Amino acid sequence: MIKTDAIIIGAGPTGLFAVHQLGIIGLKCEVIDNLDRAGGQCIELYPDKPIYDIPAIPECTGEGLTNGLLKQIKPFKANFYLGERVEEIKQENDLWILKTNKGNFFSAPNVIIAGGVGSFEPRKLALKEAEKFESSQIFYSVINKDQFQNKKISIFGGGDSALDWALELSKKNEITLIHRRTEFRGAAHTLNEIKQKEKDGKILVKTPYNLKSIEGGMTMTGIEIENENGSLEKIKADYILSFFGLVMKLGPIAEWGLNIDKKTIPVNTENFETNKKGIFAIGDICTYPGKLKLILSGFHEGALAARACFKRAKPNETYRFEFTTASKSIHDRLGVKK
Ligand SMILES: Cc1cc2nc3c(=O)[nH]c(=O)nc-3n(C[C@H](O)[C@H](O)[C@H](O)COP(=O)(O)OP(=O)(O)OC[C@H]3O[C@@H](n4cnc5c(N)ncnc54)[C@H](O)[C@@H]3O)c2cc1C
Repeated sequence: MIKTDAIIIGAGPTGLFAVHQLGIIGLKCEVIDNLDRAGGQCIELYPDKPIYDIPAIPECTGEGLTNGLLKQIKPFKANFYLGERVEEIKQENDLWILKTNKGNFFSAPNVIIAGGVGSFEPRKLALKEAEKFESSQIFYSVINKDQFQNKKISIFGGGDSALDWALELSKKNEITLIHRRTEFRGAAHTLNEIKQKEKDGKILVKTPYNLKSIEGGMTMTGIEIENENGSLEKIKADYILSFFGLVMKLGPIAEWGLNIDKKTIPVNTENFETNKKGIFAIGDICTYPGKLKLILSGFHEGALAARACFKRAKPNETYRFEFTTASKSIHDRLGVKK
C-alpha cells in the first residue's frame, strides 16, 4: 500500500501543475496515468503544434509545455506510475483506497481526478484471436525496444507511430509494414526514409492490406493478410505491433459513485470538490457554470483543489497563504539557494 497526502489521477498538464501546487504547500503526492508518458492530450494529440494562450509563454508546443511542467515539478520528486489505470476507489474511514489495473494499491485522504476526457486507450485489432497474444506477442505501444532483436515484426498502421517504429526497429529486425490504405499519413521526411528502406530491402511494405487471421496455437507463428481484391498472403511473424491510434473513454471513473454530467464531473468552484468529500476534479474532466476547457483553467482549478487537500492531509495544522516570491518555506521546498 502506497501512502501519501494526495493521489493525482492523470498526468496531463492539469495533473502536472497540481503536483506543483501541492508541493509548494508541503504536500506529497503520487501520480498515476494510463499512458506510458506524461503530458495527456498535449503529448498524445498535438506534441508539435504551437499553443499561444499559456500566460507569459507567447508560443510553445504541446511537448514543450509538458517538458516545462515536468521541470517545474522536479523539486517535489513525485512518483509517477505510467501505463497504469486507476480501476477502483473505495473509502476506508477518512482515507481513499485506490486500486490500479496492475494491482497497486494507494491510500490518501485526498484524490485529485485530472482525467481529461478519460483514459486514452489504444484502438485494438478487431480479430478476437488477437486477445490471447496481447502483451506477449501483440503490443499497442513499445515500452522497451530492446526486447525486439533479430525478430520478424509485422507493424500495422499508417501514421507517424507506425512509420517511426518501422524505421527504428528495422535496424535490428525484419519489418513488414502493413496499412489498409495505399497512402500513409506520416511526416514527409519519414515517408521518404521508409521508401528508401523499402528499396534497400530493409522494410517490406504491404498496402492496401488488412489483418485476416493469426496463425499458431499457444505461440503466434505468423499472420495472414488480405488485400481489397480478397487475395490472401501469409507472413511469418514473431510479433505484431499495431498503431491504430487512441480512443478516449471515461472508463472506470464513471463507476466510482461520482455525479456525472455528460461525461464530466460537476464540482464546487470554491475548492473543486466533487460530491464525495476528499475527491476533487480539475481540468477538462470537471464541469461548472462557465467552465472553459483550457489548460490555464486547469492550472487555476488545481491551485484551489491543492489548498483544500491541505485541510484533510494535515488536520492539526493551519494552512497559511504565502507568495512564492517571499516565502522561506516555499523556497526550501523548491530547493532555491539564496
Ligand atoms: C488538438 C488540440 C489542440 C488544443 N489546443 C489548445 C490550446 O491551444 N490551448 C489550450 O489551453 N488548450 C488546448 N487544447 C485543450 C487542452 O489540451 C486540454 O484542455 C488539456 O489537455 C486538459 O488537460 P487535463 O490535464 O485536464 O487532461 P488531459 O490532457 O486529457 O490528460 C488527462 C490524463 O488522464 C489520464 N487518465 C484518465 N483516466 C485515467 C484513469 N482512470 N487512470 C489513469 N489515468 C487516467 C489520461 O490517460 C490522460 O493522460 C487542445 C486540445 C486539442 C485536442
